[in-house]
Amino acid sequence: MARYTGPKCRLCRRAGEKLFLKGERCLTPKCAVEKRTGPPGDHGMARRRRVSEHGLRMREKNRAKAIYGVLERQFRKYFEVASRKPGQTGQYLLQILERRLDSTLFRLGFAESRAQARQVVRHGQITVNGKKLNIPSYQVEVGDVIGWTDHAKKSKYYKALTEDIHRKPMPKWLTMDAQAVTGKVESLPQPSDMDLKIEDRMIVEYYAR
Ligand code: SF4
Repeated sequence: MARYTGPKCRLCRRAGEKLFLKGERCLTPKCAVEKRTGPPGDHGMARRRRVSEHGLRMREKNRAKAIYGVLERQFRKYFEVASRKPGQTGQYLLQILERRLDSTLFRLGFAESRAQARQVVRHGQITVNGKKLNIPSYQVEVGDVIGWTDHAKKSKYYKALTEDIHRKPMPKWLTMDAQAVTGKVESLPQPSDMDLKIEDRMIVEYYAR
């Protein structure tokens, strides 16, 4: 599945806030949002102008896409799946995004960013219930156990991870076994479990126009 390959900091500058797309770097003064406050482009500051309601909704949709590293086609597909479910479409959409395997890996603290998590999955380093799985968009289920392939366990990445594994706070829907370096999905994520607040109502309004 295609992904955005342009500069990640540009997405934050366009959103006008830190979206934490680059792991450690986002917490340092090197962060582009810390250094410059305007949107990208030579005349970024001059181009800031009043944004319409529709523009605000589109901005929120683009913000969610940037956070989860999903392109328009797949995002729209997620929205269609969510809109067919009973209940609140926006909340179901957020749950689909959060349940992606790459996002789950990031939330377990097994990667510095969702982009890095995606790469780890793509490189065939991850197992789900003991079987190798290299699909970043895989939707995790309650009871799934996420672990590492034997090959991955010999890597420098895995070694560095095991030395530094306790650092991240764990969302309520996941548990992590630091000894085994595995994660378990205990329940489905709720909107309150997200690490960055997303106004799902605005996204629903954007697609409903
Ligand atoms: Fe966004 Fe991180 Fe780049 Fe800062 S360093 S602009 S938070 S991706």
